[in-house]
Amino acid sequence: MDQHVLVVFPHPDDETFGCGGTLALFAKSGIPITYICGTLGQMGRNMGKPFFANRETLPKIREAELEKACKAIGIRHLIKLGLRDKTIEFEDPEPIVTRIEQILREVRPSLVLTHYPGYAVHPDHNALGGLTIRAVSRLSMQDRPTVYAHAFARNCQDVIGPPDIVNDISKAADVKYAAILAHRSQSQVMLPRDNMLQRESFWTYRCS
Ligand SMILES: [Zn+2]
Repeated sequence: MDQHVLVVFPHPDDETFGCGGTLALFAKSGIPITYICGTLGQMGRNMGKPFFANRETLPKIREAELEKACKAIGIRHLIKLGLRDKTIEFEDPEPIVTRIEQILREVRPSLVLTHYPGYAVHPDHNALGGLTIRAVSRLSMQDRPTVYAHAFARNCQDVIGPPDIVNDISKAADVKYAAILAHRSQSQVMLPRDNMLQRESFWTYRCS
């Protein structure tokens, strides 16, 4: 199978803060990346400093930021699911799982990156991570991609152990930083900690 990375996260900026360096390194080595972004982060609280967004303009602004960040990282294929921000856990799961399953069958990724259900802090992260795992589980064993799950709950290492994938992203730190700046409405209030530009960690998830 050709290499292809499929990324599934709910919010514009999850791809950047969580794994922008890893994705930039994949892109640099010519591996295609498809990103399924669940929402446009339209319920976000950050409206810029000073305010440059309001409740009406925020989704458009965050969509433009997302596209700019994807360009910086080298993500060429972006699929927007159009779900409502902060409500994924209350959605009917079946249509979402089916849509992700369809994309999995089309794209045939060798690797999927998503959030680790239960250990990714925000309910949208946990919900969409869980739906992605369900979609992968519907594929036959030989068609299943490897899944790297991203976790950052405070207690996660106590429960699920240390991450088995720790990527040195220092060679892509400048790209990740550019992508962080592209998410202007978010990065103004969430400047990167130093280690965010050095390492990114994942847990290989065993789908049942
Ligand atoms: Zn998020």
